[in-house]
Amino acid sequence: MSSEPHSAPDILLGANVSVAKTGLLAAVEETISYGANTYMIYTRSNRGGKARPITEFHRDEALALMREHQIVDPVVHLSYLVNLASPKPDTWEYGRMVLQEEIERVEYLGFRYIVFHPGSHVGEGETYAIARIAEALNDILTGSERLTLCLETMAGDGSKVGNSLEEIADIISRVRHADKLGVCIDTCHNYSYGYDVVHDFDGFLQKFDQVIGLERLKVVHINDSKYPIGARKDRHANVGEGTLGLAALRYIVHHEALRGIPQILETPGGKYKEEIDLLLGRSTQDANTGVS
Ligand code: FE
Ligand code: FE
Ligand code: ZN
Repeated sequence: MSSEPHSAPDILLGANVSVAKTGLLAAVEETISYGANTYMIYTRSNRGGKARPITEFHRDEALALMREHQIVDPVVHLSYLVNLASPKPDTWEYGRMVLQEEIERVEYLGFRYIVFHPGSHVGEGETYAIARIAEALNDILTGSERLTLCLETMAGDGSKVGNSLEEIADIISRVRHADKLGVCIDTCHNYSYGYDVVHDFDGFLQKFDQVIGLERLKVVHINDSKYPIGARKDRHANVGEGTLGLAALRYIVHHEALRGIPQILETPGGKYKEEIDLLLGRSTQDANTGVS
């Protein structure tokens, strides 16, 4: 990994890793085993229940190990159970509470990014949903947060909102402390919704810049897809085994505009090391030397 002055920022590539048992320490050890230099975690179960105390995540040991292995800018993904667009008051309130709590937890870890799904309107329509999400964010954000909340672009399945870049921009425009908001793109979602990131990723980035502003792009999810463009289905495939294909994903991972931005695999089980090696064009044998 180069740290010479004037060199371009590194490609940051990692995976969604587990915090089972030893918390952050497990996440970092798993990341090291992939020869990766960033990662993503969920700090609480997507099945609900009380969150494990963040003080039990072995933060200090994990941060020391990260420094040693030059692992940077990890991302936290908010629980799937949060729906800030929900028309049900108790669901909306639960989401508001969990996000508020998550901000404190992640600030304790010292990380810079929380990624979350904007929400699902469950029949009330997009206009309602967008207003409701903005209301939650206006309730939560004080302006003194030390992290960025990243709205993830979705695949257009079910009644999800935040599928188009315009919808994301609309939400952001309604939030008072919008300087605390960023965006996470997801190659599977974007393609499935209808953006041709396979043949024209540059065009997609250009559109992103026009509609949202590239400075808001903070996190990228790198996934292949089981469905063709426009299918509006959220089904991730392993790298090179789906409709996007290895060449397109490699092009995206190596894109100059994404240097220094954490890129995270959320592909089906057990192949992260292989996939990271493939994307970086690295042979499996020298993978332990880290991303270079
Ligand atoms: Fe997500
Ligand atoms: Fe994603
Ligand atoms: Zn997805």
